[in-house]
Amino acid sequence: MDFAAASGNPNSLNVISSSFPICSVPISLPPPPPSRYESQKRRDWNTFCQYLRNHRPQISLSLFNSAHVLEFLRYLDQFGKTKIHNQSCPFFGVPNPPAPCPCPLRQAWGSLDALVGRLRAAYEEHGGKPEANPFGARAVRLFLHDVRDFQSKSRGISYDKKRKRQKQKVALQAPGVTHSVKPTIE
Ligand SMILES: [Zn+2]
Repeated sequence: MDFAAASGNPNSLNVISSSFPICSVPISLPPPPPSRYESQKRRDWNTFCQYLRNHRPQISLSLFNSAHVLEFLRYLDQFGKTKIHNQSCPFFGVPNPPAPCPCPLRQAWGSLDALVGRLRAAYEEHGGKPEANPFGARAVRLFLHDVRDFQSKSRGISYDKKRKRQKQKVALQAPGVTHSVKPTIE
């Protein structure tokens, strides 16, 4: 009876069920989103393009150079969340200072380094030539090197260990393993 009531179309029920995922076993996992790296890269690229658009005088995307990249990286410092002690601060070189101090919050070297890497990739994905990539320019590499050097002294930490560990870390988890699914017979 319900069959006949389905607006005269006997296939409508099938249409509804076939619009669901092919796998008939209910899985609570949501569809895989774009990777964190990819979405972060897209956000970074948009932020950089917006920075160029708001720049006075305006800079066209085809004309920016490593000087603008450095300007952009310095501009980002105002949004930083990492306390970087000045050389005159008593906590210069102290990893966990026992009291607050007036030193500025800035972008941590690790964030800048990763950001430049993502923007460098995005630049080439948007048709930029690798040999002319301003994010890979010597001036930018030197800048990052100096930031790293100063911040490791200022914060009293070494970045070397962290780097090695990151290289070893490989995601081995396979999310689609179904061996544990037991058939339920009633
Ligand atoms: Zn300080």
